[in-house]
Amino acid sequence: MPTNQSAEHAPADRKVVLVTGASSGIGEAIAVRLADQGHQVVAGARRTGRLRELAERAARSGGSVHPVRLDVTDRADVDSFVRFAKDRFGRVDVLVNNAGIMPLSRLDSLLVEEWDRMIDVNIRGLLYGIAAALPRFAAQGSGHIVTIASIGAHQVVPTSAVYSGTKYAAWAITEGLRQESDPAIRVTTISPGVVTSELADSITEQGAAEAMRTYRASAIEPRAIAEAVCYALDQPSDVDVNEIVVRPARQR
Ligand code: NDP
Repeated sequence: MPTNQSAEHAPADRKVVLVTGASSGIGEAIAVRLADQGHQVVAGARRTGRLRELAERAARSGGSVHPVRLDVTDRADVDSFVRFAKDRFGRVDVLVNNAGIMPLSRLDSLLVEEWDRMIDVNIRGLLYGIAAALPRFAAQGSGHIVTIASIGAHQVVPTSAVYSGTKYAAWAITEGLRQESDPAIRVTTISPGVVTSELADSITEQGAAEAMRTYRASAIEPRAIAEAVCYALDQPSDVDVNEIVVRPARQR
């Protein structure tokens, strides 16, 4: 955790943006892009060494990334993550719920602990983020929640049953939030196709891992997803971009 807790109010045109899972892949690209644009980025993940390197790189190009240790499966951790931003900057403008894992496997492999971990990170982590951010957004009368879902939120293939289940849930929860929210609170779901990252490294089932190597050959760079996040954030406050799907052009 950073030690400097002094309030450091960000100018109104510069947003205070929290990104979960910012230590690699898509979350890292989002943090880099938003810091480049001059936003104050609070970057959360468990690998704090990676976050510190990210903050140092951003600082060298004049950007501000604030690393915070975060395990999204721990509700108290998620609360502290959001509180850190509020204490430091006086407000929280955007929460990007990006942290996720994808240990794909067939159901009959019975990798039940991996199912549990996907449910904990991809669903509970998202809900804890919403629970931590919503009261702040209500109190300040504005806010924006961005969920990084997946094309797995729109289709199921063999080995993706549980992962897709968590992403369908992420889609449904975010859509429900959108319908329930006051117009001052914007809600966006971004569903990436195959993107270069460490996501497939957690696959332990050999068949699923091999299938992924071919499937992921058409991957695009995470910067493409960061651009979609920027597009949603940059709209006027009365425009709510509800959903964006970004696939590699070669992916069908
Ligand atoms: P990466 O594996 O590169 O990044 C995942 C990030 O999630 C890491 O920063 C990791 O940080 C973080 N994370 C995992 N578990 C936790 C936890 N318990 N608490 C906090 N952070 C955690 O994969 P991607 O960048 O690809 O994945 C980002 C999101 O994009 C995920 O939600 C994924 O489902 C989604 N997505 C990705 C696609 C792709 O092809 N890459 C396609 C569709 C969707 P750390 O380990 O340091 O905690």
